[in-house]
Amino acid sequence: MAKINDTKILLKDLSEKKGTYLKYETEEVITWCNGCGNYNIQNALKRALTLEGFEPDKILFFFDIGCNGNGSDKIGGYTFHGLHGRAISAAAGACVANPNIKVIASGGDGATMSEGINHLVHAIRNDYPMVFILHNNHNYGLTTGQASATTPRGFGMNGSPDGVIADPMNPIEFVLGLNPSFAARSFSGDIKNMTDVFRKALKHKGFAFVEILQVCPTYNRATPQSWYWDRVKYTSDIKNYKADNLKKAKEIVEDFEKNIYLGVIYQDSKRENFVEKLPNRKNITTASVEEVNYCSIEKLLKEFE
Ligand code: SF4
Repeated sequence: MAKINDTKILLKDLSEKKGTYLKYETEEVITWCNGCGNYNIQNALKRALTLEGFEPDKILFFFDIGCNGNGSDKIGGYTFHGLHGRAISAAAGACVANPNIKVIASGGDGATMSEGINHLVHAIRNDYPMVFILHNNHNYGLTTGQASATTPRGFGMNGSPDGVIADPMNPIEFVLGLNPSFAARSFSGDIKNMTDVFRKALKHKGFAFVEILQVCPTYNRATPQSWYWDRVKYTSDIKNYKADNLKKAKEIVEDFEKNIYLGVIYQDSKRENFVEKLPNRKNITTASVEEVNYCSIEKLLKEFE
């Protein structure tokens, strides 16, 4: 177990915003394994929030069950730790009730691509105004390394020691098939790229899907840090790549074995989000949460006596 102790390095280029960054730090004891990608993911998220000027009291975080969920008390802000696979559904309710706060949900590949996949599908279709971060470490880490829907075929895991039979899902390819308004991918070894992607996701007004390819040195030895560094490339490396072309976006994510592109893969920044499309909210300037009134139901109940 370790405590956050590398704050000086992380503060280096945040200049006058260091004070905001420090508000995101907590004193809770970290329980992630040494070398876990969750350290960098959370640090990059704190950096992005700081650089975009978000104070912790304007953020509502939703965490799923899993190793990523153990970060729920390691970040300043309002946090909700939900049931397995259900972080998105709770977050969707919150962002519709109060679009004036930034809602950020996180989940692992185990929860999100299996029992919670229905919530992912319909959150994308509805384009709820929130950020969702998929921590894809290719296994169920918290329950000691069982295969998930993204574990590479043939790789031996706890519970499937002879090797996984099914082919793995490619989450961002799946998401692009649902016509999302924002889809991005980054890698837990690259804090700079993650920070950049998170900043763009925070500025997006609809459902921003961000897949982070996360190293899990304890249980995922199939795709360690070096495996990714040998394969990652950036959308900026593609000549004239524009993220507003869905067909091209689908083409560049097909290959996730040799050339793994990072960055904003697709964005439709003009699309109206769920709240903007609601007919009964047109021309209303208050948020639903501001219209909550307490009223007695005694009179109503009397009608049924
Ligand atoms: Fe991180 Fe893997 Fe350890 Fe979980 S099991 S804390 S994902 S290294």
